[in-house]
Formats: sequence, structure tokens, C-alpha cells
Amino acid sequence: MKKIIVWFRKDLRLHDNAALWEAAQQGIIIPVFIWSEEEEREYARSEAARWWLHHSLKALEEKLKSHGLTLILRRGSSFEQLTLICNQAEADAVFFGERYEPSISRRDGVITKNLLLYVSEVRSFSSSLLFPPGDLLNQKNDPYKVFTSFWKRTMRESVNRPLPIPENMVPYDEAIPSLQVEGLGLLSENTWYEKFHTYWEPGEEGAITRWQQFVDEGLSRYVVDRDIPSAHSVSLLSPHLAWGDISVRSVWHSAKRLHNEETEEFNGTSIEAFLRQLIWREFAYHQLIHFPKMLHEPLREKFKGFPWLAAHEELAKWQKGLTGYPLVDAGMRELWETGAIHNRVRMVVASFLVKHLLVSWVEGSEWFQETLADFDAASNAMGWQWVAGSGIDAAPYFRIFNPIIQSQKFDAEGLYIRKWIPELTEIPSKYIHEPWKAPVDVLLEAGVVLGETYPLPIIDHSLARGRALEAYAQVKNNV
Ligand code: FAD
Repeated sequence: MKKIIVWFRKDLRLHDNAALWEAAQQGIIIPVFIWSEEEEREYARSEAARWWLHHSLKALEEKLKSHGLTLILRRGSSFEQLTLICNQAEADAVFFGERYEPSISRRDGVITKNLLLYVSEVRSFSSSLLFPPGDLLNQKNDPYKVFTSFWKRTMRESVNRPLPIPENMVPYDEAIPSLQVEGLGLLSENTWYEKFHTYWEPGEEGAITRWQQFVDEGLSRYVVDRDIPSAHSVSLLSPHLAWGDISVRSVWHSAKRLHNEETEEFNGTSIEAFLRQLIWREFAYHQLIHFPKMLHEPLREKFKGFPWLAAHEELAKWQKGLTGYPLVDAGMRELWETGAIHNRVRMVVASFLVKHLLVSWVEGSEWFQETLADFDAASNAMGWQWVAGSGIDAAPYFRIFNPIIQSQKFDAEGLYIRKWIPELTEIPSKYIHEPWKAPVDVLLEAGVVLGETYPLPIIDHSLARGRALEAYAQVKNNV
């Protein structure tokens, strides 16, 4: 029988894993994961992401073991390690799931070519997206540039059914040198990240449980509550999707089934709103494939030369959640504590950095890369370029989120703010969105000393708004 290396990457699951499925149909399976720090520098930079990867690998190892397979773990250059394993196991083929980050996909092309000197077959499979990457083009054969048209197009397409976990997989039964997950060195010595266990359960089982919980508790309210950060009505699937603990096609079909059944509880609108978000993820990859420069450069030429400020002190305050705007600070502290931020608040914090502080979206994107557990190159770049106005389908430049109004609208009672900013817990809801307006006796009673226990706003909103509009006027005038 053919001996096939299944090279796991950001598809740390057994269900709907096309590389694993195909290998199981054809031969003996040698599952491999290689931690290649130099190759992943850009894409798994944050300690939160590495914590996730560590635990997701542990879960994968266990799951494979329950099917009689041993995960071979290596560290170093992917090509070198793959060739070593090919030689050690006398493998015939290497199968793997596609990745679309430009440098990784270029590297994969080189690896594929060179591996053919060692094995007779190298195949890559696509199972991390709903549609074949790059396939959806408009009538002129150009990439879609507007989300709504892309969404409408996807509604006319059908999504392939997810593959089940292969039955009776044939394991390779000779010993091959392997590290323990701990030996990959993904966790830093400082164990501050242990708190993440309170919020997340990385791995395939954890992802399926999370999805089920969302279906039971959040999905029916999604269309109404998804913008309320304290409402617990979003799926929290993003890190699971980013690492491939769960297949997006399984989630899609599962949601569609509920949609088709159309019960009183699931009346369709919530599910449609949720499916739409999955298409935003798809749209991000669509952009990445057609416009790979989006990771580092504005997609609209007009933004080249935008007068960003080198506001290092303000950037540091934003990063630490010390801007004096409670909703912004709550979001940035949620990020520190959990490795993720609610989507509505992500937009508010990003807008604050880019438009209130006039710090480049690239700085913000880098910080997210350093801190997110769900970091996803495509969604992150699309999100930042959307907020900055430099993306292909972006927020209009004159739309400047008012962090106070956003707070009043989406966190009226300040539940989210109180959760992440304990020093503001006792402030009455009327003042929690702008504590600097609270009378002295209210502050005193709440134990808040502005400028000491909680900062005064680092910039006045109207001033910042005027300054941003002026800067953006230059973009408007650039041809
Ligand atoms: P739900 O509301 O339950 O949505 C389900 C899934 O749909 C998500 O898990 C995600 O995969 C996808 N999705 C939802 N909204 C978006 C969106 N706007 N863009 C792309 N996909 C979406 N998402 C990431 O996964 N990784 C990132 O690095 C990332 N960076 C972002 C940066 C900025 C500045 C902004 C504005 C958004 C970013 N997003 C990113 C998108 C979005 O904020 C998260 O996907 C969402 O908050 C995840 O929470 P959830 O799983 O509960 O989402």
C-alpha cells in the first residue's frame, strides 16, 4: 500500500479534512505537523495564537490516537523535515491542505516541486474555504470588489458537502522520531496565558461543543444581539476557524439545515445574518488571493502618502486600554485577557486608532497580529483596511465612529465596560460612557479619580473628528 504523509497545517481536525480523507482512501497514513517558526513569523506571532496551536495540537494528537494514528511532530524548516520523514518512512506521497497567505503559498509551491525528488506524488487540497479559492469572478471575469455583489453571487452557488472522518484509517506502524507537543516550544516561559483556559477550549471537540452551544443559546438571537458585546450571542468560532479546528463547510451546512427546517426558534433571519458573516470571511480570502498586497499596502492608491502620525505614546495607551474612552479601553483589555475582541468593538477600537489618533492601520494590524488568538491574515487586513477606508469595499472616509455614541448604543448599561474595566464598576450607567462628565460627588462615590485610577480622554472627540476629516480631505483630493 502507498505510504502517504498527511501534513497538517491550519486544518487541525479529522472531519472535512480533504488531505486526510484522500490519504485514507489510498493508503497508509503518516500524520505530521511541523512547527516552522521562521516560516510562520508573520502568521502565528502572538503568544495567544501559539497557546491555541499548542492545545489544538494536543487535541489533534489525542484524536488521531483514538483512530490508531500517531502524530509526528517536528520543528525546523518544513522542507527539511518533510524530506527527512519521507526518507525515514520511505513515503510515497505527501498530501496537505492549501494555505493562501502569499509567502506561505509561494513556499508551498517550491516545496511541492522539490519534494517530487523524494516522493512520486505531492497533492494539495482545499478545505478551509466554502468555495474554490479565486473561482468566483464577476461577468467581466474580474474579482468582485463589493461585498454585496459577492454575497449575492455566493447565494447562487452551492457549497460542497463536508467530508466525514474517514473510517478504518491504516496507520503507519513503525516508529518515526517525533517531539512531544511541549518540545515544539510554542508556549512562553511566562504562564500568563493560563487564563485562556477560562475562555476557550482549543481543538476539534472544543470547536464542535462551541458550535452546539451557539446553536442552543445564541444563534436564534444573532440578528438582534450580535452587535451587543455583553449579549453572548455570537459564535466565538473565529479562533477555531482560524486554526481549522472546525471546517467552515460543516458550520455552513449545519446552519443551512436549521434554516431549511425553519422552526419558530430559527426563523431564518438570524441564520442568514450568520451565513453572511461566514461570507465576509470568504470575501477576505477572495481579496487576499486577488490582491495579496492588501496585507501591507492600502488597496486604494489614493491612500499612499496619507499623513499618518507617529504617535508612539498614544499608540501605547491604546494598546494598554488607557485611552480614557471606556468602550475602547474595554475592548483593548478584552483583547489582552482573552486574545479576541467582539466584532462591534473591534471596529470601534480600530476606528479610534486610525481616525481619532491618526495612527496608521498597519500599526493596528501589527498589534492585532501580536495579540489575537484568532489572527487570520486575510480577515485582519480586510478589517483594518475597511475601517481605514483604504480597502476595496471600505467604510466611507467621513464615517468616524463616535466612541461615546457607540458605547451608549451597544453597551447602554455598561455591562461590557464594567466587565473589562473593574475600576469603573461603580460608575452609574448614565456616566459610564463618558466618566469625565460625571459630577465630582458621583466620581467620589464610585471611587474613581480621573487621571489617577482611570485616565482622562487622551484626545477630545470633536477635535479628533475635525483633524481626521482634514487629513481625509487630502485623500479625497488625491487623484
Ligand atoms: P461571529 O459573529 O459568530 O461570526 C462567525 C464567523 O464569521 C467568525 O468566526 C468569522 O470567521 C467570520 N466573520 C465574522 N465577521 C467577520 C468579518 N467582519 N470579517 C471576516 N470574517 C468574519 N476575524 C478573524 O477571524 N481574525 C482576525 O484576525 C480578524 N481581525 C479583524 C480586525 C478588524 C480591525 C476587524 C474590524 C475585524 C476583524 N475580524 C477578524 C473579523 C471579526 O471581528 C471576527 O471574525 C469576529 O469578531 C469573530 O467573532 P465570532 O467568531 O464570535 O464571530
